Amino acid sequence: MIQLRGIHKSYWMGTNRLHVLRGIDLDIAPGEFVAIMGASGSGKSTLMNVLGLLDNYDEGEYRFDGELYRDLSETRSARIRSERIGFVFQSFHLIPFKTALSNVALPLYYRKVPRRERLGLAAEYLARVGLADRATHLPRELSGGQQQRVAIARALISRPRILLADEPTGALDSQTSREIMAVLQDVQSEGVAVVIVTHEHAIASMTDRVIHLVDGEIASDRRQQRRPALDVPIPGLESTPSRIAAAS
Ligand code: ADP
Ligand code: MG
Repeated sequence: MIQLRGIHKSYWMGTNRLHVLRGIDLDIAPGEFVAIMGASGSGKSTLMNVLGLLDNYDEGEYRFDGELYRDLSETRSARIRSERIGFVFQSFHLIPFKTALSNVALPLYYRKVPRRERLGLAAEYLARVGLADRATHLPRELSGGQQQRVAIARALISRPRILLADEPTGALDSQTSREIMAVLQDVQSEGVAVVIVTHEHAIASMTDRVIHLVDGEIASDRRQQRRPALDVPIPGLESTPSRIAAAS
């Protein structure tokens, strides 16, 4: 699905060049669950921004289903993002004065989906992340883990092919992190590729593939048998046991 070949990217500060990505070759298949690890400053976020078409690259090729993404206009990259790519952030980025349901529905509002339809779909996606009973809550009335689940539902409602999450559990305690990973494992079992950045080996062990970046290069890229994030599924996330059973 995604192919990166020889991707280079530098930042310039005056005449000083910071060469951040130094020849990245990376393939991501539909439904793969990938963790990117590496020291601070190794280029993880830059790579995620390139994957998410939030930033350009200087050299190399990025193909999505064979189509070259290079020097795209802002309009074109925004359109591709809204159709194919979902984003989840460490700090959730929910709109504070909108309910969970409205936050999830928001991408469809921008796509001019009629109100009834978008709220109906938002309710389905909230149920999908185990939050059917929290639809009318504001973000501040939800725990961190619940807010992150709302953010995941919002990212999924546009039916992306890939979900990008830069440290999605970075602000959460370890039990809550496992709950978020359980939701992502569940998403991934439906064929959506998921790429996360994490510092924690325990979190990386819940994915299928771990990539280590060192100074902007892929130092290792290993596939593994992922660990289930939770021994006991999240109450309300009814779909989880059957999907995990079906996938294994
Ligand atoms: P990581 O996410 O692995 O910590 P980043 O990809 O954020 O690393 O950053 C890699 C390097 O690029 C760092 O040295 C960072 O300071 C630098 N950098 C990141 N973004 C910019 C930018 N917009 N302008 C200049 N330098 C940047
Ligand atoms: Mg980073």
